[in-house]
Amino acid sequence: MAEPQHNAIADRLEDVRGRIAAAAKEAGRDPAEVTLVAVSKVHPAASVELALAAGQTVFGENRVQEAQSKFPALKAAHPDLRLHLIGPLQTNKVTDALRLFNVIETVDRPKLARALAKEAAKLGAAPACYIQVNTGEEPQKAGIAPAAADAFVAECRDLGLDVRGLMCIPPVDEEPSLHFAFLREIARRNGLDGLSMGMSGDYETAVRFGATLVRVGTGIFGARPARD
Ligand SMILES: *Cc1c(COP(=O)(O)O)cnc(C)c1O
Repeated sequence: MAEPQHNAIADRLEDVRGRIAAAAKEAGRDPAEVTLVAVSKVHPAASVELALAAGQTVFGENRVQEAQSKFPALKAAHPDLRLHLIGPLQTNKVTDALRLFNVIETVDRPKLARALAKEAAKLGAAPACYIQVNTGEEPQKAGIAPAAADAFVAECRDLGLDVRGLMCIPPVDEEPSLHFAFLREIARRNGLDGLSMGMSGDYETAVRFGATLVRVGTGIFGARPARD
């Protein structure tokens, strides 16, 4: 086997994996229940290649167009690469998204759920879906309102979507654990096992609260260059 390359991305990945495992063990969980989604938005394909060389196969992007410019070639070269959409999805981008993303983490409204179900059937795609819940009820943030979540989960299931769990992005100025516990409770009462929660600043807390997907960008790739 080739010597693993030593670079900042490989080192930080190892550190993040260690912290996830430690947080899981502390909570009496099997670390294998937690999947690390490496959020590569704004970073170049070369950075994704370094993460791949360090054994990372799951990546997250928040914009369809940016992902289209980086990931088709990476996916062709690395067939086990799995790509998660973690940003808002417009209905006119659904077909493009289904061609590239394995997991849609941001199903947040009935119109999008219907478009996803219809286009997935046409393309013969079966994306794993997470429903984004706006746990902080922030007007500027995407996500279904908590009070509407149960009915929306049922609607997505009726449409035939493969609903795996829930996703949230807590308000920046609030204690994230309250939101993680809230999301876990909504998932539990809907019989859902998947919980996508936790970013660079709070993923260890999220793991303690049951996260099955943590979305870490800065903690792996370093500070994001400004978008132009
Ligand atoms: C950018 C982003 C992340 C990663 O954020 P970091 O703080 O850099 O880890 C996670 N989730 C979503 C939805 C994002 O847009």
